[in-house]
Amino acid sequence: MWPHELDEFESAHIAPADADHGEAWYFVFARGELIVKSVAGAPTPITADDFRWFDMEVEQKHFLGHYEGRSCFALAAKGKPAEGFQSIGLRNLLGRTKASLFYLAGRAQQVIDWSQSHQFCGRCGERMQHHQQDRAMTCPSCRLISYPRLSPSIIVLVTRGDEILLARNANWPQGMYSTLAGFVEAGESIEQTLHREVFEEVGLRVKNLKYFGSQSWPFPNSLMLGFHAEYDGGDIVCQAEEIADAQWFTIDNLPQTPPKTAISGWLIHEFIEQHNA
Ligand SMILES: [Zn+2]
Repeated sequence: MWPHELDEFESAHIAPADADHGEAWYFVFARGELIVKSVAGAPTPITADDFRWFDMEVEQKHFLGHYEGRSCFALAAKGKPAEGFQSIGLRNLLGRTKASLFYLAGRAQQVIDWSQSHQFCGRCGERMQHHQQDRAMTCPSCRLISYPRLSPSIIVLVTRGDEILLARNANWPQGMYSTLAGFVEAGESIEQTLHREVFEEVGLRVKNLKYFGSQSWPFPNSLMLGFHAEYDGGDIVCQAEEIADAQWFTIDNLPQTPPKTAISGWLIHEFIEQHNA
């Protein structure tokens, strides 16, 4: 099953009185990038003590909870970090640090993005306030409540005997192939999304859906639900503009595919493991 490495994380919305101490982790985002320090070669969040030396202005600060007993905060800030610290995009963090730290940083960025884009009520225009108990914004005028937005999507490896279907998105680098994916529409079940997306993107019907696991994918707020599905009929017809190419591949003749740190790469890896078992 897809590895879950966030077991040591305890989510909370309200910071206990003693949470903001020198050793607390600060996930500081400035101009869309996370500020980190290098510890044994790996990008690592900075501490509250580190941040003290920065000439930065805090725009937002949110308590996230505790990771291995250490308090974690998400900060949006303006200005420059001190010498010796770097800024890194979330995508570049993936695979270079512990998975749990990547997901925590993704959580921090999503909370900040959501908070920054819900300063005013979408219904009546009043300034929003933070909810007393929940991770939510409320409108004091019309009582609208906004929670951080998640966009569920399916990601599926279609199999046919010892072959797998991989497709190349029109926007990807040449030679890069992956599994099919698409967002859940309002009113759909996950299973309906899967059948619809596979048919829209490559014109195939599938059966025997098997759920494998999920991955939070903070670009900007996806929740990927990963499946294997068996081919049930049809000929490949690529969706115009979206899919540049789709083909059946055997595992000894695979094109370039995503790394195992992405659920797409992991779904492919799982098929290979099963095949070689
Ligand atoms: Zn309102």
